[in-house]
Amino acid sequence: MLLRDTMSETGVQSGEIHERATQALRDAHLQEALRASTLRLYEHRLRAVQEVPGFERLRERGRELKREVIEHLDSYLAQFADQVERSGGHVHWASDAAEACAIVIGIAEKAGAREIVKAKTMVSEEIELNHALEAAGIRAVETDLGEFILQLAGERPAHIVAPAIHKTRQDVAELFQRSLQAEYTTEPERLTLIARRALREMFHRARMGLSGANFAVAETGSVVVIENEGNIRFSTTAPPVHVALVGIEKLIPRFADLGVFLRLLARSGTGQKLTSYTSMLTGPRRPGEDGPDEMHVVLVDNGRTRALADPKMREALYCIRCGACLNVCPVYRKIGGHSYGWVYSGPIGALVTPEFVGIGQARELPFASSLCGACREVCPVKINIPDLLLHLRSEAQAKTETPRPPDSPVGERTAMRLWAWAMGRPWAYSLGAWLARLGQRFFADQGWVRRFNKYPLSRWTEGRDFPALAPEPFRARWKKIRN
Ligand code: SF4
Repeated sequence: MLLRDTMSETGVQSGEIHERATQALRDAHLQEALRASTLRLYEHRLRAVQEVPGFERLRERGRELKREVIEHLDSYLAQFADQVERSGGHVHWASDAAEACAIVIGIAEKAGAREIVKAKTMVSEEIELNHALEAAGIRAVETDLGEFILQLAGERPAHIVAPAIHKTRQDVAELFQRSLQAEYTTEPERLTLIARRALREMFHRARMGLSGANFAVAETGSVVVIENEGNIRFSTTAPPVHVALVGIEKLIPRFADLGVFLRLLARSGTGQKLTSYTSMLTGPRRPGEDGPDEMHVVLVDNGRTRALADPKMREALYCIRCGACLNVCPVYRKIGGHSYGWVYSGPIGALVTPEFVGIGQARELPFASSLCGACREVCPVKINIPDLLLHLRSEAQAKTETPRPPDSPVGERTAMRLWAWAMGRPWAYSLGAWLARLGQRFFADQGWVRRFNKYPLSRWTEGRDFPALAPEPFRARWKKIRN
């Protein structure tokens, strides 16, 4: 097979968000790809949600159920583990990324698997499993089309649901031509066929398949995965060994609750009523069934209990990874997923990254938000994202030493102190406003200042316009109105 592995970048680079965002904003090609894709997903969701009477009630129910699980996570995890073992599966517990990778490598070695077919799993990206496997001499091949494209390009996912959202058809055509020596074509069907040809033989050859889990049902010990391509079903049933990497927050209480989440997830993520495939995997193959001889479930903590320990941040664990908050976020839509410097991006990335890797490594992320609240409006489990971001901001200020970028924290702090001083003295405030009004005559045009020439104000107008002060102050207008 012509498939060539290209490893993606490693580690957390969230501290580079300003530099990466600046680059992304200057990249017209990326801007167009992001605009078109996020808008399409946003519109699909809007239509899908409008068709469901009582969608708000469904959201409330989803939230209640996640709350129930997260508040009693210990007992639900124990129940889930029991049920997996009762169905003939094996349960492994991983407290961090290194432990999770070691467990997967151990299972692969025992199974004699030198090649693994992987379904899309964000947890495997999070623990950098592909690098660990490669170091152990095991080759992992991504079988989700988006992930396959990114593996060839050596990149991380740029979106939770649509990992290659930043790539156009032309980008993919060039990549396939370069990496797979395939013909150049921009037709989606033919591009899919090229990927399919490259992957097909791997499904038959691999001795181990690896997946994530969209949900893990405590009552039955089932791992539930949803998809549109069929590659997850193939990866989890064709090889003799199946390993499911499951973040401990993925639990839901009962099988009957699955209906609530399936309706919420597909509509919020892609605007579908249901995805093309929903697989519910309960233990390995029984006599007369298709499926693997062995099923292993690796329950991964990797920072989740840190979020659990904080009564405020616990809510972030309700997330069902639908990606809807990314598609509406005005920041994500401009800077794209790679600017966030880790595997989770957008509003939910700004929440969970500091929790999973520690606030010291990702202190900039909670500030990468306009706090407009669009994410809260679309979240299927009603996570109050802006509120949690504010909580993280104060934590970042209190717990970390590095001053918050951009350039002049001292200048920023001085300006804030001056502002606070003037706000407590009406005469100083009025004088300041009068001077500003006088000065803005040289810059303002039709109610907006589009460009300041002098630093530090020039930094503001580099990325956005500045609203000009009203020609007449409110206090003067108020006097007139009262008279
Ligand atoms: S925070 Fe809500 S909207 Fe965002 S990915 Fe998670 S579930 Fe979806």
